[in-house]
Amino acid sequence: MTTTTKLWRIIDLINWGTDHFTTKGLDNARREMEWFLCEVLSCQRIDLYVRFEEIMNEDELEVFRTMVKRRISGEPFQHIIGKAPFYGRDFIVNQNVLIPRPETEILIERIKTNGSVNSLLDIGTGTGCIAITVGLENLADKIFATDISESTIEIAKDNMKLHQVENIRFAHHDFLKQNFKTKFDVVISNPPYIGTNEMNTLQAEVQDYDPPSALTDNGDGLSFYHRFAEQFENLLTNDGYLLLEFGGNAQKQAVESIFQNAGLKTEFFEDLQNDWRIVEVRR
Ligand code: GLN
Repeated sequence: MTTTTKLWRIIDLINWGTDHFTTKGLDNARREMEWFLCEVLSCQRIDLYVRFEEIMNEDELEVFRTMVKRRISGEPFQHIIGKAPFYGRDFIVNQNVLIPRPETEILIERIKTNGSVNSLLDIGTGTGCIAITVGLENLADKIFATDISESTIEIAKDNMKLHQVENIRFAHHDFLKQNFKTKFDVVISNPPYIGTNEMNTLQAEVQDYDPPSALTDNGDGLSFYHRFAEQFENLLTNDGYLLLEFGGNAQKQAVESIFQNAGLKTEFFEDLQNDWRIVEVRR
């Protein structure tokens, strides 16, 4: 007697998985499926289509099935594969760090446009994606990065090793309570800007998996901007500037008033969805 097991080619899994994810309401079904398969097969996206007739072995299928189950249960794909892209490079992520978002990449574009500097400080570094990218793109000679969470700093250091950047110093620091002793040419941050009241309006995936301290200030979402305005003189060299992400159109007015009331000049930039997302602040 012979038993027949269904043979799954790579292309069958792409098609089956895309349908399955679409049925479950995932927006980016095909792309996520490709990411999982690339991970299981340790290959690039293009290879999936070159090797499309290849049959997956039982071990590979088992790893793949587990990934699909975790994804369907609501876990972000970045946590399942343990990494997330930022500015074209992969960064290690886990439940202790915010998954880097594409809109944050505009901060990097702004520094590029303004030109490289001597010293830069990244506050609330998370994965370290901003500080490390600044290093890799040669945008600052001396880079400092802080976070309120020790476990987050560990991930940022792992990412620094992964990308072999040497000129970054990471430190544990509570920006709302502690000061800095030196000034910097650029201070950059993607601070927690979600107000407590809006936390339950976020996607379940964000609420359940991103660390709350990376999302909210446990207030009105503006605590960090107030603190940056108050600390501007202590933090920035004469021609230095602040570059901050904030929570889109709804926060623009408030952020603008905070800095204007402190006698500072603001310039705003939109993200790819045409939402106001970045503010650059100067004397
Ligand atoms: N700086 C990191 C990022 O932009 C983390 C930001 C945060 O945790 N709020 O992704």
